[in-house]
Amino acid sequence: MLGLMQEKPLLISSLIDYAAKHHGDAEIVSNTVEGGTHRYTYRDADRRARRLGSALLRRGVKLGDRIGTLAWNGYRHLEIYYGVAGVGAIVHTINPRLFPEQIAYIVNHAEDSYLFVDLTFVPLIEGLGDHLAGVKGVVFMCDRAHMPAVTLPAGVELLCYEEFIADGDETYVWPEFDERTACGLCYTSGTTGNPKGALYAHRSTMLHAYAANLPDVFGLSSRDCVLPVVPMFHVNAWGTAYLAPMVGAKLVFPGPHLDGESLQRQMEEEGVTVSAGVPTVWLGLLNYLRSSGKRIDSVKRLVIGGSACPRAMTKAYGDEYGAHVQHAWGMTEMSPLGTYNTPKAGMASDLGEEYYDDQLKQGRLIFGLEMKIQDGDGNELPWDGKAFGDLMVSGHWVCSAYYKGEGADAHVDGWFRTGDVATIDSRGFMQITDRTKDVIKSGGEWISSIDLENIAVGHPGVAEAAVISCAHPKWDERPLLVVVRREGTDVSREELLAYFNGKVAKWWIPDDVQFVEDLPHTATGKILKTKLRERFSDHVLPTAGD
Ligand code: AMP
Repeated sequence: MLGLMQEKPLLISSLIDYAAKHHGDAEIVSNTVEGGTHRYTYRDADRRARRLGSALLRRGVKLGDRIGTLAWNGYRHLEIYYGVAGVGAIVHTINPRLFPEQIAYIVNHAEDSYLFVDLTFVPLIEGLGDHLAGVKGVVFMCDRAHMPAVTLPAGVELLCYEEFIADGDETYVWPEFDERTACGLCYTSGTTGNPKGALYAHRSTMLHAYAANLPDVFGLSSRDCVLPVVPMFHVNAWGTAYLAPMVGAKLVFPGPHLDGESLQRQMEEEGVTVSAGVPTVWLGLLNYLRSSGKRIDSVKRLVIGGSACPRAMTKAYGDEYGAHVQHAWGMTEMSPLGTYNTPKAGMASDLGEEYYDDQLKQGRLIFGLEMKIQDGDGNELPWDGKAFGDLMVSGHWVCSAYYKGEGADAHVDGWFRTGDVATIDSRGFMQITDRTKDVIKSGGEWISSIDLENIAVGHPGVAEAAVISCAHPKWDERPLLVVVRREGTDVSREELLAYFNGKVAKWWIPDDVQFVEDLPHTATGKILKTKLRERFSDHVLPTAGD
């Protein structure tokens, strides 16, 4: 017997509709690319998103058409999130930090019909030249007064955002369609091969938003003020652009200003309570706070993910600024949230050493997903906090295939192979030890590069550290520590190696240290280890003769 309850498709437009009706006065504050601060409300955002959606329809955009964005976190990008998805088209967010060839590939692979572009990326658009041939129009996200003088390939229309939406209708009613309809497309920033597209659905995005707003996850409320530093051009700013309207939380967008000084100012002026971003951003803010003596007293929680968050950072924000760092893990293919680190009953929830220790782990699984770890033969490994294995996930917001069917080997019997290596402890807390490709295999045993990096960055002389495998005649591979020294310090190889004593098993301690000026990063801020391994491929370890 079927239940007798109303059935409505889970559609993204319902979020902005709800926010406008029930939290219409809640504010959205943006640092703009043109300069200055823009302020308006959910009510305004909803009206303008409806204008945009209806204007797109008038131009012939149909259900399933891809609309690209090259934009920072800001109010117009939010309108695009809702205006495009609201009419059943697909918001294809493009990471502007990718190489231009990759961007050209992505725009053509996705077959974007329109591109919405922030003024920062005028040179990027010009550089794409004939690669834009398949695009109908490029809409610059500004008013007429700020329109750039750009020459686009023949047949590609040059458009102004404010004029574009002026053609639309703010009373337009969002349509209903199948909740499994695609709403977003985001390409992975893979370090090898071409980027692959994760195609989100309305249903998956809505379920992700519900789950991510649970109290033990982001747990936002209408009393929160959220600053997503994590970009809207990469995995929907971890869902924050959906979570905040769902509860009517105030939203604060940093625009292109991601430096410590700008973030601190916005946090203080707007009363930010929750913020989310990758460790490098928080390192920049921490350095600024320490050197300026400024505070971020309104901030209760900093959600950190994308790369492992070192203990030293959790402790610094806790001890010095009273902010709870919460470690999260996820990926493009998971919309992105997978695990979130909130203490369970009986665990330390107040700031202190125990809390900081626990936060080293990436957290426990969010309801709606499943996870397991397995060895190379596909045997499931125990949840004992020690056994490392390939991390597999499945669930409502995990991709079932890549756009246009690429990368099929990642999808196995209903599970998605994350490419991460992890342990899971008996309480269900997962800890990433490596990417599969980065794990160091020494004499047949695995060494976690992330564990070693976490320890290294705890040394006051280290600004950034990476551990990579280096060829060794006896052990096959041994760890090599590559370090960027903190400015004004002169830490030595010997001091650093001694720093590991007592913190890890002796055979895990790196065989050597190399000092560099900076480390190469991917478009999403992760250390580009393939490049580092190439760079040190001829390096002879001092232990090679042992
Ligand atoms: P992306 O798809 O670009 O968001 O990257 C996803 C990958 O980033 C994951 O598969 C992990 O390798 C890595 N990652 C994300 N969050 C964390 C974290 N908290 N700790 C360590 N690695 C992480």
